[in-house]
Amino acid sequence: KFIALEGGEGTGKSTQSRLLADWLRSQGRDVVLTREPGGTPGAEAIRSLLLDPPGDGWGSRAEALLFAAARSDHVEKLIRPAMLAGKWVVCDRFIDSSRAYQGGAGKLGDDAVQKLHAIGSEDLRPDLTFLIVVPAQKVALRLARRDGESSDAIGGRDAAYHRSVGETFEAIAATEPERFVLIDGDAAPEQVHSRIVSAISSTPDL
Ligand code: C5P
Repeated sequence: KFIALEGGEGTGKSTQSRLLADWLRSQGRDVVLTREPGGTPGAEAIRSLLLDPPGDGWGSRAEALLFAAARSDHVEKLIRPAMLAGKWVVCDRFIDSSRAYQGGAGKLGDDAVQKLHAIGSEDLRPDLTFLIVVPAQKVALRLARRDGESSDAIGGRDAAYHRSVGETFEAIAATEPERFVLIDGDAAPEQVHSRIVSAISSTPDL
C-alpha cells in the first residue's frame, strides 16, 4: 500500500509521516518511510539543486521538470519495488505537492503537471492521501519557532504563494474524495496522529 501525506510547510507532515510509519510497524507491517523531493540518491541530488539553486533560481517550468525528474527516480528505484515486494510506503509529499505548488501557486496549471507525472511516473497515485490542514496564522507561529529553518526552503515566495498552495490542495482534495482524507492538524502531534490512525483503521481495503 502507498500512503502520502500532504500539506504546506509547517503543517507537521514530516512528524506525522514518522509517527504513522512507526504505528504501521507496530501493527506488523513492513514499512518504507520516504520523502519528496528525495528518497533516492538521484532524487536527493535533485532536491539539493531545487533547494539551493545555482544562479538566480529556476523558472517555474524547469522547477516542475526537476520535481518530476526527482519523483521519476524515486518511483522507479524505491516506491514501485517496495510496493511490488508487498511493503507499505509512507511518503512525505507526492504528486499533489507538485499540483499545489508548481501547478496552482506557480501558475503552471494542473494539466501540465499531470502530463509530466504521466511521463515521469506512469501516473502512479497513492492509495490514500492525508491532507493536513492548519490555519495560516498558526502555521506562521510554528515556522517562527522553528530554529534556524526558514519558512520556505525555496526562497522568494510570498504569503500569497503559500495561500494559493493551501487553496489548491483543498481544491484537489475535493475532486477526489475517495483518495483524500482531510486531517485537522491544529492540535498536538499525538492527537493529530490519532486522527490519522482512526482514518486508516476505518478505510476499507487498506
Ligand atoms: O516538505 P519539505 O519542507 O521537505 O519541502 C522542501 C521544500 O520544497 C519546501 O520549501 C517546499 O515548499 C518545496 N516544495 C515545492 N514543491 C513541491 C514539493 C516541495 O516547492 N512539489
